[in-house]
Amino acid sequence: MKESKPIEFNFLKDKRQEPDKFSVGERIRNSAEVYLSYSQKQAEKQAGRCLDCGNPYCEWQCPVHNYIPQWLRLVADGKMAAAADLAHLTNPLPEVCGRICPQEKLCEGACTLNDGLGAVTIGAIEQYIADTALANGWQPDMSQVKSIGRKVNIIGAGPAGLACAHTLVRHGVDVVVYDKYPEIGGLLTFGIPEFKLEKSIIKKRRQILETMGVKFCLNTEVGVDISIDEICNTADCLFLGLGVDKGKLANINGESLQNVFQALPFLVRNIYNGMGLANQPFDFTGKRVVILGAGDTAMDCNRSALRLGAAEVNCIYRQQVHDLPGSKKEIKNAIEEGIHFVWQKQAIELIGDGHITAVKLQNTAKNEQGKVYLKEGSEHSFSADVVIIAYGFDANPPDWMSHLDIALTSTGLVDTSEQKKYPFQTTNPQVFAGGDMVLGADLVVRAVAHGIAAAKGMLQYLLEKA
Ligand code: FAD
Ligand code: SF4
Repeated sequence: MKESKPIEFNFLKDKRQEPDKFSVGERIRNSAEVYLSYSQKQAEKQAGRCLDCGNPYCEWQCPVHNYIPQWLRLVADGKMAAAADLAHLTNPLPEVCGRICPQEKLCEGACTLNDGLGAVTIGAIEQYIADTALANGWQPDMSQVKSIGRKVNIIGAGPAGLACAHTLVRHGVDVVVYDKYPEIGGLLTFGIPEFKLEKSIIKKRRQILETMGVKFCLNTEVGVDISIDEICNTADCLFLGLGVDKGKLANINGESLQNVFQALPFLVRNIYNGMGLANQPFDFTGKRVVILGAGDTAMDCNRSALRLGAAEVNCIYRQQVHDLPGSKKEIKNAIEEGIHFVWQKQAIELIGDGHITAVKLQNTAKNEQGKVYLKEGSEHSFSADVVIIAYGFDANPPDWMSHLDIALTSTGLVDTSEQKKYPFQTTNPQVFAGGDMVLGADLVVRAVAHGIAAAKGMLQYLLEKA
């Protein structure tokens, strides 16, 4: 047996090294992913920085509780197939989370070395494990899985639905996943742009899930193309992972002017064009684009607008740089690419005659309680040819939820909190739910964690009902 390499103090000689990135010019020209992959040597070296501190806070801060120190050890020892098996035990989408989790707030933020020495690059190594495995034709071992003679219908092929499907098929359940889009992934495909997560990655994952036995019924909106009764009547129970995708309005005059877009329809149309599913390209050449909002979605709009040829992209935010809510690495990428931030201002009107021409802004400040307020008499106008509103999302539960007697919270999210018997069961015992439609707009990895936990709850329910 190959001897383990001594790793205890590698972090002193090997510095934290994130994967290289394409130059800004190349990024903007070709829209592909910004980061290059590690080489095997780089991955082994970076994984070998883990000091195996004995208190894996990284693991606890990871919402799916990945076995991080163990797979870092396997990578450091070059045992990539074993690392892939272990990574998939807790996370059905390691190639996705490795790329787009805000690691500084999760695993890497909790790394013992994140104290001047530089956290282990956990996300990049997780991505490397999964990318290498998928490139080498890795498949989960399903040889011991026996059918339990039960069927689950899942609505929503986003990360919550996919994680739920993955977990259920691994336990011998028949699974059909319905989605209104023509490809799986939910916001991973129809929201997050290529420069963060290429579409080919989700297609590869689809092949694996299909080989495992998951059936996808795409281009099928439940309640429109197929009735909810049919979905209920053809399965023992249901999982809902519908997400939330109703963009919040700015609630100011001028929102219906031409060239004012809501963030998600803008991103989706751009993605449809890129995937060859539509031919309605945006041409922002020479345009002054203004993005309202500064979360992950706003950052994706900023950087997409730049890649569409905008002459300048101005991101208007009512607070300051240290208050920005999104992932730090994506904010850094946006700044590198030339996004201009306009701090401590809020849009109070969109001005134009048919087309948008300017945004009326007002300065903001914070009071002693930390509440942001508008400063009187500070109104001024800011030129704009295009405005994209990225103020977050509200729940938009379909009408058939009430037909199923599923209780909602006052903000329209699915209420799973009062359920005592099984995790993520709704007020309809046959129906479970998870992801953004329970949490509100959140993170991929938390949707994945919900999908897995709900699947475990459903398995208990199905076995007890048998
Ligand atoms: P979704 O991904 O929204 O999937 C729901 C699915 O349900 C969709 O495919 C939808 O078509 C389907 N559906 C809904 N109703 C029906 C119906 N009636 N019939 C059939 N199908 C239906 N998170 C991160 O961790 N990192 C990031 O960098 C990041 N960036 C983001 C960027 C953008 C632009 C956006 C919008 C979100 C971002 N997020 C990010 C958040 C993340 O994408 C979500 O938290 C996550 O996708 C939620 O997963 P979900 O499965 O709950 O829902
Ligand atoms: Fe870190 Fe996200 Fe991977 Fe967990 S899933 S180890 S939080 S990158």
